[in-house]
Amino acid sequence: MELERHVLKALPTQRKDQKIVTNTYHPLEEIEAYLQELAASVSWVSVESIGKTFEGRDMWVATLAAPGGTSPKPSVWIDCGIHAREWITPATCVYGLDLLTENYGTDPDVTAFLDKYNVYVLPVHNPDGYYYTWSDDRLWRKNRMQHPGDTCHGVDLNRNFDDGHWGGAGTSDNSCGGTYCGPTGFSELETQAVRDYTNQLYSNNNLTAYFTIHSYGQMWMYAYGWGAEDTPHEQELFRVSETGVTALRSVHDTVYTYGSIYETIYPASGTSIDWSYSRGVVHTYTLELRDEGQNGFLLPADQIIATAEETWTGLIAAIMDI
Ligand SMILES: [Zn+2]
Repeated sequence: MELERHVLKALPTQRKDQKIVTNTYHPLEEIEAYLQELAASVSWVSVESIGKTFEGRDMWVATLAAPGGTSPKPSVWIDCGIHAREWITPATCVYGLDLLTENYGTDPDVTAFLDKYNVYVLPVHNPDGYYYTWSDDRLWRKNRMQHPGDTCHGVDLNRNFDDGHWGGAGTSDNSCGGTYCGPTGFSELETQAVRDYTNQLYSNNNLTAYFTIHSYGQMWMYAYGWGAEDTPHEQELFRVSETGVTALRSVHDTVYTYGSIYETIYPASGTSIDWSYSRGVVHTYTLELRDEGQNGFLLPADQIIATAEETWTGLIAAIMDI
């Protein structure tokens, strides 16, 4: 298959008017301040809290509703940081906001993308956990909830979505486990907020694509995670994934594997992917960003820009190919 290869123009990382430095990791408060500043300075960007966490933090979503194109536009959802220690993912979402807002109207790919879709970005899906990785434990994964009767803190938010297979393969029912799925499906405020908000996008004006970004492993995946069977859309999901990984590789020659979660990484039930696919959003994908384990969750900051450039090139190429 012949694919047009276009590499997004990298932004200089030290610009005079830059609202956030993108080649370093930022604590939660700095990401929140950036989102507010972005909304205050770009007329077609708005920022709203879609819910509160157990510890009372807001879940901020940035909406990019560019002036061009024909409204109403369908929607694209992209979330980062559902697992707290995967720092490259909030950094990649932040880079994307900077890239899209700075290049709209000049870069043809960015402009076509934003003229076609309203883009909703949740840079930190798990703010309590992310905060905790800065304050106490760099390798914390889950949120910080402690349910009555539980020994330990933390539910794995990406095992807490309920598509009918909640609590199945690849989950733990022990609160001290890394993949603890919670006492019930959608027991967590963070999963409830994303469920309700994206359901609203879906019923209002069509949700064309739902992406959730993880690290690490360099993989591009889709449903199912709960079992080995193919979805009825296997060929189409494989095709769009191939578009994404091909475009991604064209930037820095980073190689991704792709396929269903179950076949590509491991069995996992109660993921946002399986849930989002099952509620009707066919083009639902999860990415595992760099690297392949050399640094793992501790990806050096000097790889942020390259990772974000290739990821957004892949994302835009894939979404425009739907
Ligand atoms: Zn993850």
